[in-house]
Amino acid sequence: MLHHERLRPPSHDYPADEWNVIEKAFRPEFLAQLETMLAVGNGYLGMRGCPEEGGPNAENGTFINGFYETWPIVYGEEAFGFAKTGQTICNVTDSKIIKLFVDDEPFWLPNAQLLDYDRRLNMRAGTLDRNVLWETSAGKRVSVTSRRLVSFVNRHVAAISYCVTLVDARASVVISSEMSTNGPGARNNHDDPRLAREFPERVLQPRTNYSADRRIVLCHATEKSRLMLVCATDHTLEVSGPHSYKVVNTPDFGQAAFTIDAEPGRPIQLTKYIVYHTSHTASAEQLCGRAEWTLDRAVTQGFDALLASQEKYMDDFWRRSDVRIKDINEHRAKRSTVEIQQAIRFNLFHILQASARAEQTGVPAKGLTGQAYEGHYFWDTEIYVLPFLTYTSPRMARNLLAFRYKMLPQARARAKELGHRGAMFPWRTINGEEASAYYAAGTAQYHINADIMYALRKYVLATGDETFLQTCGAEMLVETARLWLDLGFYSDTKGGKFCVNGVTGPDEYNAVVNNNAYTNLMARENLRYAAEVVESLRTAQPDAYKALVHKTALEPSEVKAWMQAASSVFVPFDEKLNIILQDDSFLDREPWDFRNTPRDHYPLLLFYHPLNIYRKQVIKQADVVLAMFLLGDAFPKEVKKRNFDFYDPMTTGDSSLSSCVEAIIAAQVGDMDKAIRYGMAALLMDLADVGGNVKDGCHIASMGGTWMMLTYGFGGMRDDDGTLSFWPRRAPEENAKLRFPLIYRGQLLEVEIGLDKVEYTLREGERLVIRHEMQEVVLTRDSPLAVRPVSSR
Ligand code: BGC
Repeated sequence: MLHHERLRPPSHDYPADEWNVIEKAFRPEFLAQLETMLAVGNGYLGMRGCPEEGGPNAENGTFINGFYETWPIVYGEEAFGFAKTGQTICNVTDSKIIKLFVDDEPFWLPNAQLLDYDRRLNMRAGTLDRNVLWETSAGKRVSVTSRRLVSFVNRHVAAISYCVTLVDARASVVISSEMSTNGPGARNNHDDPRLAREFPERVLQPRTNYSADRRIVLCHATEKSRLMLVCATDHTLEVSGPHSYKVVNTPDFGQAAFTIDAEPGRPIQLTKYIVYHTSHTASAEQLCGRAEWTLDRAVTQGFDALLASQEKYMDDFWRRSDVRIKDINEHRAKRSTVEIQQAIRFNLFHILQASARAEQTGVPAKGLTGQAYEGHYFWDTEIYVLPFLTYTSPRMARNLLAFRYKMLPQARARAKELGHRGAMFPWRTINGEEASAYYAAGTAQYHINADIMYALRKYVLATGDETFLQTCGAEMLVETARLWLDLGFYSDTKGGKFCVNGVTGPDEYNAVVNNNAYTNLMARENLRYAAEVVESLRTAQPDAYKALVHKTALEPSEVKAWMQAASSVFVPFDEKLNIILQDDSFLDREPWDFRNTPRDHYPLLLFYHPLNIYRKQVIKQADVVLAMFLLGDAFPKEVKKRNFDFYDPMTTGDSSLSSCVEAIIAAQVGDMDKAIRYGMAALLMDLADVGGNVKDGCHIASMGGTWMMLTYGFGGMRDDDGTLSFWPRRAPEENAKLRFPLIYRGQLLEVEIGLDKVEYTLREGERLVIRHEMQEVVLTRDSPLAVRPVSSR
């Protein structure tokens, strides 16, 4: 089932362009959406796409990944083991404000007479650019050109180049560059549990503030999480006429105001350099010192050099990551090729912005584009984002897995608290502790443990990074395998099979169930992989094995027990319907009355008590269907088709994580109509605001899912068994071409899929063996190999 699309920016004001997301007219009704869509970030620092003038804002926001405040979770009725401490990402000091006054008239978009307006997310350069021509009330024309970047190369640095030129008359110009802390945070919307909570009191407590020349430093700390934050700015002004400036700093405010006696035709060029540093341990003085060093370096470099390094970074990113399409059947897709190309790049660009410099942190569900979901890390990272990173930026994938490894002590403690052996990763967290206050759709999602291990396996297969596997991965495998063994049991009522009861699968509309098929299948993978890795260490790497035994007190009998459990995992199945059951009692539930559910009552979670939902046959997001994608080799095409046909009509897609997966399975079973419909919904989830909540932040998981849909879905990529293979899927009447690069074992492969030809080119590397359908293909550097797909023969 698919939702209708929501209010979408009109295409004449938001024209399609392959490399830019463009806003040609300022329209207040799209303010909030645009703040999300035009956000810039680098995975460490993110700024919503608010105008430079400091407003108007729907929900202004600047976020630092992992910079959060805690709060006590208060339950009406407590129970043992409930998460006690909430964690919410903070809206930190807003440093991007640059106000403009011409003859004392403020430049304020809603009132301004705009002769020209162009704002664009420049995905090639990695910047947010704006060109405005403003006519003041006195009829003076003023050109304002700005460029904002959050550096990928130096994660602490952002910069804004702001240029004002009077076109035809002289005037007095004031440019006030400001910083402000503790502005209004997220709106407190009690009706939508997905949004972040609003803190009743100020979150950032002033520590110190000072200025020197045109430099301003504001330092704050959070009270409970005890994190320190410094935001520092510095300015250079290039102008030919007389000018002066004044600097002000207070605990929550900084201002460098430049007054210029401006002549027409003479540009006034202000560059604002911005630096953020945070720490758990440094003192205010130490952290201010660090921020100043970084600022010194940025100012010495200058904006042009920062921009050049940003462009170089982006070139390299696109070289490894760009997915290109050609000759789309526009009628069928109901979008032009340019629009689709734009949407693809928009998704990939935002994944980059969410993850590039996420070092020692995870990837929040909304990246750094909004505060919804509190800035928490979920399974979204491992199942939806890591595949893209593994195949295009393996270093980033490794960082994210290493971050999970760093959480292992808390995961062990959490397992213990719940009476389990091994380690239990939190369903949602920033600091490694469970922050889910609703256990039924939170802690009960044990599958996250297997999801992380699944991503680890895929990472190791694609990169060959045995070092990471030995030093970090194996330990996580041992502890998660222990968890499964402890959680499950051999049930007499299920013929002695290994069962896992009382868990929630990915589908949050069927909570705390027995034998969720997804969970059991993924747990089986987890147990198998743990046994395989430990065995191979024992036989081939005795030192690494010894170290592992030392770290985990592993007993040889444990491995046998994992293998035994894996081989007897129970997977609920209905003989009559010939389908895998989502859980033991899925068929016992009453079908949901879709016919009498008003269209505006989706997502159901906002309109029905959980119990009304839980007792019915209705699905929030792909569950069995997701398992059939992730463990694709285990399911023949007919099985996929039967199960997809059964579950698809009752899947609401109330989670944005669903459409991309349904598109993949639809493509794999040859239902190309559905594949394209779901595919377009996933692709346009954010650009067309399919779910109606883009204002709250980008759907990063769905964005990762669109890459999977293009490569695994339409590209027919498979990687389950350690050899890359391709079974391209297409509608026979389609003429479209799809081209994508992949990094596999350090080599760069390019795949181009056309109607009657699939071409594989090894762009970097010496030799790579892959499979095309059943056929082995040996590739050598720059000698493209063209093969005819079976479907065209
Ligand atoms: C989905 C979860 C997801 C979370 C964050 C929820 O709506 O059901 O699967 O992890 O959003 O994206």
